[in-house]
Amino acid sequence: THFGFQTVPEETKESLVRNVFDSVASSYDLMNDAMSLGVHRLWKDEYIALLKPGAKGPVKCIDVAGGTGDIALRILDSARERYADRETSVDVVDINTEMLKEGYKRFKKTMYHNTSQIAFHEGNAQALNEEKFPSNTYDLYTIAFGIRNCTSVPDVLKEAYRVLKPGGTFACLEFSRVNNPLFGALYDQYSFSVIPLIGTILTGDRASYQYLVESIRKFPPQPEFAKMIADAGFTTGGMFEGKGGAWRDLWGGIASIHTGVKV
Ligand code: SAM
Repeated sequence: THFGFQTVPEETKESLVRNVFDSVASSYDLMNDAMSLGVHRLWKDEYIALLKPGAKGPVKCIDVAGGTGDIALRILDSARERYADRETSVDVVDINTEMLKEGYKRFKKTMYHNTSQIAFHEGNAQALNEEKFPSNTYDLYTIAFGIRNCTSVPDVLKEAYRVLKPGGTFACLEFSRVNNPLFGALYDQYSFSVIPLIGTILTGDRASYQYLVESIRKFPPQPEFAKMIADAGFTTGGMFEGKGGAWRDLWGGIASIHTGVKV
């Protein structure tokens, strides 16, 4: 392990993930800003700008590991503001009820509250309820900073493939691998010392934050993840045509966007 941190056994992973999100649910959005110095907002904006929800008419979206609804809100705002679309809808799915409650509270203050544009559901990305989330239903599947917390990435991809309509888009925003060794070393210093420290100060829960940092290191690098998406049946990289590669790196690979289209 790096810097003396212990490797977390897979069976304790789900309970750790639950704990960390339980303890931070109410301050999650603040934590995100604190840890990424606000940069997650830029990445999320770029992600939505790439996906252009509503550009070709209203779309039915599912935002998995959607937490407090940050991506859902951006999808709906973008569709409305750019394309005057008030019919695009998002089903937010998350394993953690505390996060969903925060999302519900947040949407109460928006014009989408009590409309068919938004719904919150408890569910596991690896095994979505087939009655609630039937096959071939969605035009767009988003998952932002969530897939690395899941025990089986192939199971998540399989479910994403199942619920998407043929021609539908899978889009994942996730922490990734930094390409430049010098920048990588600085980023390691930051994440291994600053993130657990901020986590401790804000939640008193250092172990969970150490785990989160380690989960970023354990997540497959960009080419390997792109291959997993292709193995699940998706055509990868269509969105980045002419720009090279099956994914787009953000900030030198601190995060990346991978997309796939259901054949
Ligand atoms: N997508 C939101 C965002 O970008 O702000 C939230 C990201 S948050 C870092 C990760 C979320 O993944 C948490 O809300 C957590 O509860 C959820 N999560 C973890 N494992 C999950 C699983 N197996 N199925 C569904 N959600 C899961």
